[in-house]
Amino acid sequence: MSTPPPPSSPQTHTGTCHCGHIRFSITSPLPDVVSCDCSICIRRGALIQRIPDADFHPITPTAASLEDGTHGLIEYRFNTMVARDYICPVCGILGYRRPRLGTGVWAINVRCLEGVEVEKLEVRRVFGSQLSTVGVEGGVTGEGKEEAAKS
Ligand SMILES: [Zn+2]
Repeated sequence: MSTPPPPSSPQTHTGTCHCGHIRFSITSPLPDVVSCDCSICIRRGALIQRIPDADFHPITPTAASLEDGTHGLIEYRFNTMVARDYICPVCGILGYRRPRLGTGVWAINVRCLEGVEVEKLEVRRVFGSQLSTVGVEGGVTGEGKEEAAKS
């Protein structure tokens, strides 16, 4: 996560929140953009692409501040309190989130990426509303289950 982004390539995308407080780039194509129907995704309408840490390059706030918690963003947690949504405190836009899987994966708000024509993306629907609950048989379901099915 601390490696600087390589020079621009077709797979490099720059992302910002609305006001520019959050800036980042990713060095990844967008092979599996998802639209989720869970209680929060359905409200915010974000399109999400998950990428490995190595492909995520925070600019502001810095990677170090995201790690040590001094990033200054709103860090919203709910339900299992494991996933972390990083929201701009100025304009209220979600830039990215750490899914329940925790370290190793970032979930990027594709709608924040510059130059990406979201209407041209192939979007896969996922049904987080049926998975994201606490205390169901077997403990935490949702993202973990989805990820297991995907890998
Ligand atoms: Zn902002």
